[in-house]
Amino acid sequence: ADLSDLIKAGLRDVPDFPRPGVVFKDITGLLADAASLRAVVEGIARRYAPGTVDTVLGLEARGFILGAPVALELGAGFVPVRKAGKLPRETYQATYDLEYGSATVEIHTDAVQPGSRVLIVDDVLATGGTGEAAVRLVRQAGGTVVGFSVLIELGFLEGRRRLTDVEPHALAVL
Ligand code: 5GP
Repeated sequence: ADLSDLIKAGLRDVPDFPRPGVVFKDITGLLADAASLRAVVEGIARRYAPGTVDTVLGLEARGFILGAPVALELGAGFVPVRKAGKLPRETYQATYDLEYGSATVEIHTDAVQPGSRVLIVDDVLATGGTGEAAVRLVRQAGGTVVGFSVLIELGFLEGRRRLTDVEPHALAVL
């Protein structure tokens, strides 16, 4: 079976989490399986030629789990994008709208060097709000987004529409 089928088979649907009416895609079973973990990390990394990515940006929290091993594969550094208030030094911030209210994410101002080629990694592309905020952080820092990879894209939410000038790639589209 191909990687998309492996991911679809390894996912678990959790109805009404974290709120009534939402079907949450639980990836923890994929991460726990040694062969699946290797396959998804390599599946992201092999889309990028050696030497073409300087920094992998992982989105809190599951983007950390996937992003760090992808960075190792590519010979790149790893930078965490964190929810507001977690990083100890000076930050750039990006705020985005949620269904109810808003959320803010941050990176350290010295985490992405001007001119750096940045690959953004997360587990799920849903409405695209988090991803779009991450793209703004990279651009604030003077970096260039050269890739955007997720395990799973929830296509019906049309999150990629919010990601202007970025072509997101998903290993599996639901
Ligand atoms: P978005 O900002 O695109 O609406 O949501 C994406 C963020 O929420 C990602 O960081 C992702 O981890 C999380 N997320 C949203 N829906 C799901 C889901 O069904 N499963 C998982 N694992 N994460 C989700």
